Amino acid sequence: MPKPNDLEQKALQIIMSAGNSGLLQSELWRKLGASSREGSRIALKLESKGLIRRERELRNGRWTYRLYPKRLPASMDSIADCPCVMCPDSPKCGPAGNVTPQNCERLTEWLFHAAESTQDILGDS
Ligand code: SF4
Repeated sequence: MPKPNDLEQKALQIIMSAGNSGLLQSELWRKLGASSREGSRIALKLESKGLIRRERELRNGRWTYRLYPKRLPASMDSIADCPCVMCPDSPKCGPAGNVTPQNCERLTEWLFHAAESTQDILGDS
């Protein structure tokens, strides 16, 4: 029989693999092979640890929860347009060089755009 922490870990992996569309808690119970009672306990625990968020959803006339990961692993797409990827100054860029990430305008501008895009996706809150 799996330990509670093993089930939590597995549940978190399943929720993270669902990505931004999340998944219904009943789907999670099914994938975990857990009872709804055990599944609810795990979801509440993951939420209290700040790892997931639960949103109420009306499904087939009944209220349930959809579970979303609070963090997703970074994808290669998220850094594909980072200026460092194709930067001609990359070989001489570093903490001891004349060019550093701390004083690079291209990197700073890219980071600001990335932050703005994230705020657009998450909404102002
Ligand atoms: S921080 Fe700036 S200078 Fe350094 S590699 Fe990235 S884009 Fe190039």
